[in-house]
Amino acid sequence: MKKLNFERPLIKKLNIGPSHKFGLKTEFEAFTHIDDVPVKDLLAEYGSPLFVLSEKTIRSTISEAKRAFETRYPKVQFAWSYKTNYLNAVCSLFHQEGSWAEVVSRFEYDKALSLGVDGNRIIFNGPEKTEDDLNLAVENGSLIHIDHFDEMYTLIDIAPKHKKKPKVAIRVNMDTGIYPMWDRFGFNYENGEAWEAINRIMMSNKLDMVGLHTHVGTFMMTAGAYGIAATKLADLAVNLKRKYNHDLNYIDMGGGFASKNTLKGAYLLGTDTSPSFDDYAEAITTSLINSQLDPERMPMLILETGRALIDDAGHLAGTVLANKKLSDGRHATIVDFGVNILFTSFWYEHKITPAQEFSSHSETTSIYGPLCMNIDQIRESVYLPAMKKGDRVVVSRVGAYNMTQWMQFITLRPKVVMIDKRGQVHIIRNNESNSDITGLEKIPEHLFLKK
Ligand SMILES: *Cc1c(COP(=O)(O)O)cnc(C)c1O
Repeated sequence: MKKLNFERPLIKKLNIGPSHKFGLKTEFEAFTHIDDVPVKDLLAEYGSPLFVLSEKTIRSTISEAKRAFETRYPKVQFAWSYKTNYLNAVCSLFHQEGSWAEVVSRFEYDKALSLGVDGNRIIFNGPEKTEDDLNLAVENGSLIHIDHFDEMYTLIDIAPKHKKKPKVAIRVNMDTGIYPMWDRFGFNYENGEAWEAINRIMMSNKLDMVGLHTHVGTFMMTAGAYGIAATKLADLAVNLKRKYNHDLNYIDMGGGFASKNTLKGAYLLGTDTSPSFDDYAEAITTSLINSQLDPERMPMLILETGRALIDDAGHLAGTVLANKKLSDGRHATIVDFGVNILFTSFWYEHKITPAQEFSSHSETTSIYGPLCMNIDQIRESVYLPAMKKGDRVVVSRVGAYNMTQWMQFITLRPKVVMIDKRGQVHIIRNNESNSDITGLEKIPEHLFLKK
């Protein structure tokens, strides 16, 4: 008979908090494999911590989203939101699945071009586009989404220099019943600014008005907000047609669909409460189809979905460094990944699961990262089986924003791998070395250390 492993004794204080009327949040069944590859082997081969993306999950999620919209609306186009995850392999995968590129800076714009995306399949959003950026975007026939009047006047000013009319849309913000309202981007619907912007564009005769855009917020838990937004954009399009007899090529509903993560302070798990792609698709397409838009010339529906398409596909695997007791007797676990690479731990209660079999002893613990910073807390309080030094854990649903918002701080950032559909593991971003970081630095000569 195999000798049982020693496990330290536990004294459990009964805490109120983690339970609700459906019982304890069950967060545990060992997470031993990601797409059939053992977590243990991944960490042994590529180091700990390690970001692991599943190509299979990305592909099945985008197909599910496409199905939800394409079965309800004649013309649908997804555009991958670069800032959600702009690792080259990830963008390439989305482009292979037919997505256009949605970029919000020159850095992202150049990245899309270098990945081979046609200029006319790049949507250029955001408040910062220099005159130089705009000239390039016009030259390439990209879709420029105007954020403010200053940008519009710059475009009207530079337009005569170009052979082609700049292709533009305006970003519209509006009241969708969700507060605080995102009114810092684009032109407001309710106060008439959006309609004014449309009139100025049409009367200038220098720009080709091809679409309308909105991005109402992020992690929107009510699909109905999109229904309201689509009705308001359709209303603008109908008025545009009436006044100028001009048809739009597209209506772009932006991103913001919630992923299945659980927001901090939420009573129920995100897996139970986030709307599905079908819910969002139903709300948006119902509004467009029931509007006064000409049924013969329905605009293409563009979606810039980010987090909902990739969160599930990302995992962060890591290792337990130590256990300790806090001064008030609470238990704490220290792991080898910090909030600097898991930025989303500031707003999600990330699901963390041991990657090996465990006994039935569970306890409430705080999970801390390795940084010498008090804020480096991954989970404040989570009910987990007892783990010991060297045990491995997997954090689920980390595919969105972490690989773009992460920062190099105290430690070096780890590798990112992608598991393909046949179970082959590919490094898609190497771990950093000291020279990657210090290579950019210069020491003024008078500060050289004299030996
Ligand atoms: C960030 C962003 C998106 C993607 O948002 P998600 O919440 O990740 O879906 C789409 N469009 C614009 C304009 C954005 O700024």
